[in-house]
Amino acid sequence: MVVALNSANHVLDTIPNAYQTALAQYDRAVRYLDLDENVIEYMRWPRREFSVNFPVKRDDGRVEMFTGYRVHHSTVLGPSKGGIRYSLDVTLDEVRALAMWMTWKCALVHLPYGGAKGGVLVDPKTMSQAELERLTRRYASELIPLMSPHADIPAPDMGTNAQMMAWIMDTYSMTVGYSVPAVVTGKPVNVGGSLGRNEATGRGVIICMVEALKRRGDTDPGSIRLVIQGFGNVGSHAAAYAYDLGYKILAVSDVNGGIYNPKGLDIPALRRYYAQNGALAGFPNSEPVTNAELLTLPCDVLIPAAMEGQITKNNAPRIQASMIVEGANGPTTPEADDILDERGILLVPDILANAGGVIVSYFEWVQDLQAFFWDEEEVYRQLERILLRSYDSTAHMAEQHNVNMRMAAQMSAINRVGKALMTRGIYP
Ligand code: NAD
Repeated sequence: MVVALNSANHVLDTIPNAYQTALAQYDRAVRYLDLDENVIEYMRWPRREFSVNFPVKRDDGRVEMFTGYRVHHSTVLGPSKGGIRYSLDVTLDEVRALAMWMTWKCALVHLPYGGAKGGVLVDPKTMSQAELERLTRRYASELIPLMSPHADIPAPDMGTNAQMMAWIMDTYSMTVGYSVPAVVTGKPVNVGGSLGRNEATGRGVIICMVEALKRRGDTDPGSIRLVIQGFGNVGSHAAAYAYDLGYKILAVSDVNGGIYNPKGLDIPALRRYYAQNGALAGFPNSEPVTNAELLTLPCDVLIPAAMEGQITKNNAPRIQASMIVEGANGPTTPEADDILDERGILLVPDILANAGGVIVSYFEWVQDLQAFFWDEEEVYRQLERILLRSYDSTAHMAEQHNVNMRMAAQMSAINRVGKALMTRGIYP
C-alpha cells in the first residue's frame, strides 16, 4: 500500500529502518550545504511511487497474487536508474530508501542518472524457473508505462539476476515491437549486456578498499585479513577479486550463516563448493559462525555485502575491523556510524564503495545506445578511473570540511543534485 505523503514528518512516523536511515543521513548532510531550503525539502521526497498487485500462474495451475513496487526518487540529472529486488522483506519504505541512495550514488560518481528502485515481495528460491519467468514478465509489463531507455532503466539487485533482466528486456521489446536492449542493464552479454557487469560491484568494492588501505600505508595484501558478509553477486565477486590480489579472506556468510578459517579460505575452491552444494556449511577446513558472530570477528577489513541494517548501535562497539567497506546498500545505521567514527574506524560508504555496479550498468547502457561494444579491459579501466576519481574527490571533501567519508560522499552527491535543481528551476 502506498502511504499518503502528507508531510515529511508523517513519512518519518510510519517508516521502518532503511528509510529512516536514508532520511537521517540526508538531514545530517544538508546542514553543511549552502542550498536553497525549498530545494532541500524537494529532494527529501520520492518523485513517484508505483505499487502493483498482479497474478502469477503457478506450475500446478493455481493463480497467486504478488505485490511489487517501483519508486523514482529523482530524475533531475537524467533517467532514473536502479535495481529490482526479489525478497519477502521488501516494503515500500525499503524501496524508497534504496531509490534515494541510488540518486546520491549516481550523482557522486557523475553519472547522468536519477535514482530508482523496484521490489517484489517474493522468495525466488520457492519458485520454479518457469514461475520466475512468468512473475518477472508480468511485473515488467506492469512497469512498461514507467520504463524506457530514456525514462527508467532497471538492473539486478538482491534475488534477481541476468536471466531475469533478459526477460524484462524481451517483454519490453515484444510490447513495443522491436528490440530495445538499453531498457535494462545487467543482461547476459549475448543480448546486449556488458562484459564485466556481473563482477563490477564486487570488483569496485575491492578497488575502493585497496585505495583506502593504500592511503593509510597498507600496501601488503598478504598481511590484510578480510571478513565478508553475504556471498551473492557482490560478496562472492568481492571475495574472488580480493583473493586474486592476494588478500586473506577469513570468513564469508550467506543468509543461513557463515564459515571461518583464521588462516584464510580458499575462495576459488569455496565458489566451486557453493555452486555444487548450494551451501557454505561443511566446506573443508572451516568452522561455522553465525552472521552476528561474523561481524565482530578479528580482522582488518569488514565488508558487509548482504543487506541493510546489519551494523547497529548494538554490535558497533564490538567490531574489531579497523576499516569497513560497504558492499551492501545501507548496512550501517546512523547511530552505528557515530560509534564507529568515535572509535576511529574508517568507513567507506555504500554510495561510493558499491557504485561499481551502476557505473558498469551505465557503460552497458552507453554501449547499447551506440550499438558499439567494448572489451573487458576497457570496461575495467574506465571503472577504476571513475571510482578512483570519486574516491579522491570524496576524501578531499572529507578533509576540507573535517567530516567522515559517509558525510563527505552524501554532501558531494546532494550538492550536485541540488545545484542542478536550482539551475533547472522549479516547474512550472
Ligand atoms: P544477492 O541476492 O546476489 O546476494 C545476497 C547475499 O546476502 C546472499 O549470499 C544471501 O544469502 C545473503 N543474505 C540475504 N539475507 C541475509 C541476511 N539476513 N543475513 C546475512 N546474509 C543474508 O544480492 P547482491 O546483488 O549481492 O546484493 C547484496 C547487497 O548489495 C544488497 O544490499 C544490494 O542492494 C547491494 N548492491 C548490489 C549491487 C549489484 O550490482 N548486485 C550493486 C550495488 C549494491
